[in-house]
Amino acid sequence: MVKSKILVIEDEPDILEVMQYNLEREGHKVVACRDGEQGLSRIRTDNPDVVILDLMLPGMDGVEVCRQVKSDPVTRAIPIIMVTAKSEESDIVLGLGIGADDYITKPFSPRELVARVKVVLRRGPLREDSGGVNDRVVRGSLTIDLGRHEARVDDRALPLTPTEMRLLHFLASHPGRVFPRAHLLSRVIGEDAVVTDRNIDVHVRALRQKLGEHQSLIETVRGVGYRFAEAAR
Ligand code: CA
Repeated sequence: MVKSKILVIEDEPDILEVMQYNLEREGHKVVACRDGEQGLSRIRTDNPDVVILDLMLPGMDGVEVCRQVKSDPVTRAIPIIMVTAKSEESDIVLGLGIGADDYITKPFSPRELVARVKVVLRRGPLREDSGGVNDRVVRGSLTIDLGRHEARVDDRALPLTPTEMRLLHFLASHPGRVFPRAHLLSRVIGEDAVVTDRNIDVHVRALRQKLGEHQSLIETVRGVGYRFAEAAR
């Protein structure tokens, strides 16, 4: 089963615990946040597969968090399930047009929550961890085969390190999409690595050097991170 990273933003400890328990039991990785500000900043750094967002939060409320996530091109594609206390609130949330992907009303059963998450994940835009099928990515004259640890451009083999290989494969799997440095680090190097955000720059520089005349495939987005050129799709 595909493990997904789910960010839950909920200020009520009991509900948070129930959500976390049931989602983890399904094999998901859960990150819990207690308020809107913290939640928003974790969305930006962690790039979760789904966000479960309570409407009523201390400080920045769920509506504002959703609005900010959906108005930022970097985070827009991340699905959000809003959690509301009453069905009337759900109507309001949908009516506001803030772009929530689904909603769930308290009290909800764990089964309902898990089912909603499943639906949103299934139609979600990002499924890079889905295993063998996406191991091989072809973009123009560039071919990356993760399973064989092989990358070629213009039929020339690229001598990539495992990290460079994963970085190129990940970026090329999502042409046109910007990824923050911190996100690339956790995806490509691993969350436990003792590294700084700038460490990713070193890998990108090495990668570009090896790509030679094709180095423009990896674009720098100032103040954010990197993306694979959309034109190469
Ligand atoms: Ca609440």
